[in-house]
Amino acid sequence: MKTKNKIILLVISIISFTFFLITIDMIYNFRSYGIKSIDDKAKAIAKTVEHSLTSQMVSGVIDDRELFLGQLEDIPNIDKIWLSRGQKVIDMYGKGLNNETARDEVDRQVLETGETKKVVNDHIFSQSTYRITIPYNATSKGKIDCMSCHTNAQEGDTLGAISIQMSIDDSKQIGIKTITDTLLIALVLMIVIIFLLNFLISPFLSLFDSIKKVMNKAQQGDYSYRIKNPSGKEAKDVALWINGLLEKLEITLEAIDSKISIFLSENHKITDKDHLINVKNTVDRLSDVYKFRKTIEYDETIDDVYNRLAEVLKIKLGITKFNFFEISTISNECKLVHNEAKIICKIFEEGCRADRTNTIIDSTQFKDICPSCKACDKQNYFCVPYAISNELDLIISIYTDTVTQTVKVREMIPYIQDYVDAAKTVIVSKKLMNILEHNAQTDALTGLKNRKYLEDITPKVTSQTKRSGITYGVLLLDIDFFKMVNDTYGHDVGDNAIKIVSQTLNENIRESDIAVRYGGEEFVVLLYNCDEQGAIDVAQKIRTNFSKKNIPTGGTNFIQKTMSIGVSIFPNDTLELEESIKFADLALYEAKNSGRNKVVRFDKTLVN
Ligand code: GH3
Ligand code: MG
Ligand code: MG
Repeated sequence: MKTKNKIILLVISIISFTFFLITIDMIYNFRSYGIKSIDDKAKAIAKTVEHSLTSQMVSGVIDDRELFLGQLEDIPNIDKIWLSRGQKVIDMYGKGLNNETARDEVDRQVLETGETKKVVNDHIFSQSTYRITIPYNATSKGKIDCMSCHTNAQEGDTLGAISIQMSIDDSKQIGIKTITDTLLIALVLMIVIIFLLNFLISPFLSLFDSIKKVMNKAQQGDYSYRIKNPSGKEAKDVALWINGLLEKLEITLEAIDSKISIFLSENHKITDKDHLINVKNTVDRLSDVYKFRKTIEYDETIDDVYNRLAEVLKIKLGITKFNFFEISTISNECKLVHNEAKIICKIFEEGCRADRTNTIIDSTQFKDICPSCKACDKQNYFCVPYAISNELDLIISIYTDTVTQTVKVREMIPYIQDYVDAAKTVIVSKKLMNILEHNAQTDALTGLKNRKYLEDITPKVTSQTKRSGITYGVLLLDIDFFKMVNDTYGHDVGDNAIKIVSQTLNENIRESDIAVRYGGEEFVVLLYNCDEQGAIDVAQKIRTNFSKKNIPTGGTNFIQKTMSIGVSIFPNDTLELEESIKFADLALYEAKNSGRNKVVRFDKTLVN
């Protein structure tokens, strides 16, 4: 219902109720007033009749009272007047000419009790009457002593009664007229108020209704509704302000919504038609992605970045079973970089379909879509390829137990995309850093670690040794009379000989050992978890094997060379790795001095 109609209805109800109360009060007052005035009139007539009858009795003309009573009936509004004699009067004077006995029950009660009785007959549509019966009681007080004539009576006896029946239609008519007038006034008042309401506040009420409708729509996210055709200057001003505000809101929110959603992945669906809600959701997501990006920028290693991406998948997106693979676009080499579930495909042997086709592979859409995943029937797989750089793709393989879970995962794809996008540059820069670091620590000629690497790991190796008590065998190797190779066959042959040393080292040491090109044709080997005898044995093995290697010198010619090796044990000989290498150098010096092509274990006599 419109506000205007509500107000009009309220005003009509209030006025009607007020006038209803006033009418009830008036009816009651009019009736009371009418009865009171007629009652006074009746009492006056009764007194007059009493005095008159007494006078007539005293003057002996009592028989003319009928004439007198008949004349009284001519008084306006008096319908009937009659007298009834009490028993003592009947006993003395008889019933009189017109049988003046009690005519009805009222007369009888009044004669019996000596008390006045009143009967009101109210009718709206027929005549209304008022009847009063007043007793005449014997008294010796006053001007005439009643007992002087009524000798058989005593003080207070009821000698007779007068009944007067009067019409109260006049006061009823006046009452009805007053009430009708009042109702008419109420009606006119109502019409005037409705007219005023309509004329004066109608523009504001219809403006209010329009504002209500427009705001209701805005509340639901639709800012396109406007207040139309306001009447009155003030209403027009208000409508103009509100319409202007809504216009600004609509344009600005739409612009913000479309502009900031650019920062999120393309396949985002705008779910809410309320731009404000969209803006809030987008800002929330952007802020999450921004925080993620800021955090991974400070992560030290690429593994930390993948761990954090995995955390997002698990905690934020509720995905629990997944693996991350890195695939080189150049060499097709595949590497598992984060592991949260058992690998269910032969990605390393047969390659990755998601990477090859650059599309999402969803087993719920085509069963056995990926041939390398045929074996697993119970689990669904959902593999998404992401291009991290020109050389690197990231494959996220997600496994689910039900189709519903896969549907949920599918909905999460844009979100994963946002986080992967945010991680891309960080992954690439971390990769580059790794490459730079690797290059800075690797010898270009042999591919072995270089002296810088040895310096970098020295603190780590030292602390690890202190903590775990693990010993390292430290070997320092040097080719015997190498200068001669360069001088006789040229630098290239010399370089080749150096490569053959590195090859020999790789063939004779374990994965956990570290081989370093220490300088020109000098090498350091750290033998992990190795005691003195073990270190000497490995050194001898290296020495012997190298001496058997053929070093090509051009055409089918080759030469063979020997090497000398100094051995120390870290931390048994000294607690400093640098010093341990120095001790190995002293041992090497001793090997050179004592004939070359041999392994010498450091001992304290070699110092100085
Ligand atoms: P010794 O038995 O006492 O070790 O005699 P040596 O001739 O091997 O003497 P030394 O170990 O001092 O020889 C170092 C030589 O190694 C000097 C240099 O010509 C050569 N050399 C150093 N670095 C390289 C390199 O990268 N390539 C080549 N071809 N030769 C190098
Ligand atoms: Mg040397
Ligand atoms: Mg040498």
